[in-house]
Amino acid sequence: MPEQKPILIAGAGIGGLSAALALIRRGFAVRVIEQARELAEVGAGVQISANGARALFSLGLEAALEKVWCEPAGKEIRLWNTGETWKLFDLGAVSRERYGAPYFMIHRADLHRILLGAVKAAAPDCLTLGLRVAGFEQDESCVTLLCENGTRIEGAALIGADGVHSRVRNALFGEMPARFTGLLAWRGLVPMERLPERLRRPVGTNWVGPGGHVVHYPIRSGTLFNFVGMVERSDWLVESWTERGTTQEALNDFKGWNEDIATVIRNIEMPFKWAMLGREPLKQWTLGRVTLLGDAAHPTLPMMAQGANMAIEDGVVLARSFAAHDDVPAALKAYEGARLERTSRLVRAANDNATRFHNPALGNAQGAARYVDSEWQEEKVKQRYDWVFEYDPVRVAI
Ligand SMILES: Cc1cc2nc3c(=O)[nH]c(=O)nc-3n(C[C@H](O)[C@H](O)[C@H](O)COP(=O)(O)OP(=O)(O)OC[C@H]3O[C@@H](n4cnc5c(N)ncnc54)[C@H](O)[C@@H]3O)c2cc1C
Repeated sequence: MPEQKPILIAGAGIGGLSAALALIRRGFAVRVIEQARELAEVGAGVQISANGARALFSLGLEAALEKVWCEPAGKEIRLWNTGETWKLFDLGAVSRERYGAPYFMIHRADLHRILLGAVKAAAPDCLTLGLRVAGFEQDESCVTLLCENGTRIEGAALIGADGVHSRVRNALFGEMPARFTGLLAWRGLVPMERLPERLRRPVGTNWVGPGGHVVHYPIRSGTLFNFVGMVERSDWLVESWTERGTTQEALNDFKGWNEDIATVIRNIEMPFKWAMLGREPLKQWTLGRVTLLGDAAHPTLPMMAQGANMAIEDGVVLARSFAAHDDVPAALKAYEGARLERTSRLVRAANDNATRFHNPALGNAQGAARYVDSEWQEEKVKQRYDWVFEYDPVRVAI
């Protein structure tokens, strides 16, 4: 890639920083522009499966990550009211053996800090904070990033990694229609020592019920417990990491659920709420020297736990495409070509899981047992997840 101008990345979230690091590691000059004046991820956990782990390890981050991650022994399904438990799948050694990499749970702030530290160590001056991207102009020879305060920055390419409400995406293709799913997600963290022994086990748990589900797992070397609880509610429309709710409101949303759920909610330090908006996959991400990455390209419901994984994979594949092509538009087209089908399929799979996790059949114990036995039968689970975890962004054809 002979061009001298830097590759511009709008947004320093998990996706933008993964892309920056992958590009820097391959010798490209990068400039990352972030609207926040200070970089501090908000508190919540994220699950990284073998596909995402492989990408992060290829960037040299394994040693830093393993100091703070939790590697669960497996995942369980539990029934919302009785607490009856079924195995979903084994993780730990089984994930390493079957997929060649671990499945781990981590605090978003820890993952973000590790990515940021690696980017700063490799290219100390590449990050500009407190600048909000408004749009861009491009011609045959370069792209110019336009910021809200009038700043203009020239680059060889622009990667819109500016999240679900992406300004770069709007400038490329217009406003993306969003459909309110009628779902609200509660998120919160509990210091592990506040919980009874039975909730401290090193497993990931998916509680399923009619009209709601809960996911919880340990993070930060087992010292914190991460809770995500989703319910059907149509009176909340704000999609944000920082909107606060109250303990009582969260308890009301899980009335009738197993006492373990109430125990967790009562101990959450600060419950946050997030409205779930669904969007159809885009058919195209790229125009000339500009493309999209992460939630800007493929916003998804979290029911496959793959939004961050996809953003990390995008970064690694993008850098490989730049290394493999002589001109920017060809590199971006190759990147899009390698990523579009997989990410669209994952967005659809997450929509399917929303229906599966909240199915009305889970309402009574007998129907629930039949439904769980059929929906989470080993072969079906393998079909739903093997293709996700087996993917290797370091080797996939571009
Ligand atoms: C409830 C819930 C649970 C989840 N659980 C998981 C999980 O277990 N596993 C998983 O893989 N994923 C999970 N996800 C999804 C994951 O969090 C996202 O997919 C991921 O954070 C996307 O990263 P990103 O970098 O694309 O976007 P973001 O993290 O949103 O980063 C975008 C960045 O761009 C900046 N920005 C925005 N606009 C501008 C602008 N105009 N100018 C400059 N900068 C700008 C923002 O400040 C931010 O820093 C979950 C999501 C939710 C809601």
